[in-house]
Amino acid sequence: MSNDGIKRRDFIKQSAAGLSVPILAGETTVTPVATQGIRPLVISSSNRNRTPTGDVFEGGIACVTRAMEIIKAGGDTLDAVVAGVKIVEDDPRDDSVGYGGLPNEECDVELDASVMHGPSRRAGAVASLRYIKNPASVAKLVLERTDHLLLVGEGALRFALKHGFKKEDLLTEPSRKAWLAWRESLNPRDGWGPSPLRTGGEQERKTSSAGLSREEIALNEWIAEKLRHRQTGTINCLALNAAGDISGVTTTSGLAWKIPGRVGDSPIIGSGLYVDNEVGAAGSTGRGEECIYINGSHTIVENMRRGMSPADAAMDAIKRISHRYGDNRTELANFNINFYAINKRGEHGGASLWKGGTYAIHDGREAKIVDCAWLYEKK
Ligand code: ASP
Repeated sequence: MSNDGIKRRDFIKQSAAGLSVPILAGETTVTPVATQGIRPLVISSSNRNRTPTGDVFEGGIACVTRAMEIIKAGGDTLDAVVAGVKIVEDDPRDDSVGYGGLPNEECDVELDASVMHGPSRRAGAVASLRYIKNPASVAKLVLERTDHLLLVGEGALRFALKHGFKKEDLLTEPSRKAWLAWRESLNPRDGWGPSPLRTGGEQERKTSSAGLSREEIALNEWIAEKLRHRQTGTINCLALNAAGDISGVTTTSGLAWKIPGRVGDSPIIGSGLYVDNEVGAAGSTGRGEECIYINGSHTIVENMRRGMSPADAAMDAIKRISHRYGDNRTELANFNINFYAINKRGEHGGASLWKGGTYAIHDGREAKIVDCAWLYEKK
């Protein structure tokens, strides 16, 4: 990272590979785990998206590949993960993150993000941020340039603008059309949507594919998918370098059609993201409210501190969520949630409530998609 903010303060120095002596930082003493022989590792949620044009965008693979390039070039782990997710924030083909993210119920795109830098033990976050397509970079500035942790709404926007971010309309045409279809489908008795007195509305065009081009059919299928269930989506990315330093980021447009001002788990430190440079890191995607209830990512890191593998630690968090519902699968079928985790030794794991979760990894040799462990399977 452009270490300005960190250097300005007397925070903990980044640990060098293989150190086994305590490092003194201010009044805090930490004893790093010996880390010789660690291979760098980057993982992220898979963010494999079917796009409005019918293609597939592999956001997770793009993210881990970019982050690993930076780590291999000697860059800081936080710079690496923020650059990795920026690809997805910038790309409208991912409708759950940054530019092109699905809007809230008033058709405004509101973004949440958090970052944590293991070596300096610092965090930054923004919530309900509008008009700025890279909330993770703004969260990193909160970490580097303030002694605050979380900025929200109008204050977060003003902070970003003062730091030179550009104000942009984040709503894309496909996202606008998806919002309109959602709004028109809500209530047959309100003023929205086709009525016997009107013809040619968006909703009518959507219901028949006769005479439509391939692009229009692909868009309509994409919109129909957005309406089938309540859309969530986010990207979480965690990285470990050869020195054993760890950072993480989570960035999202949150729950589609949310009430303006709703904040999910992604910008909440300990929920959508947690990093402890002595232990490991964890992050989450999926139903944010459930993650906040159990402080998911912090729970996972504490599980790893007590000796659990990343996969077991993540599955334990999934089970805690299931227990809130008395393990009632009918109720649990209303949402999904995924956790991802790495430890200081370079081991990784993921766990999902429902079968089918995947995540992206880059181990320094190749990027690939691997399966999450799962608790339940839908029949
Ligand atoms: N966790 C995000 C939120 O609740 C959404 C998601 O990851 O799908 O805002």
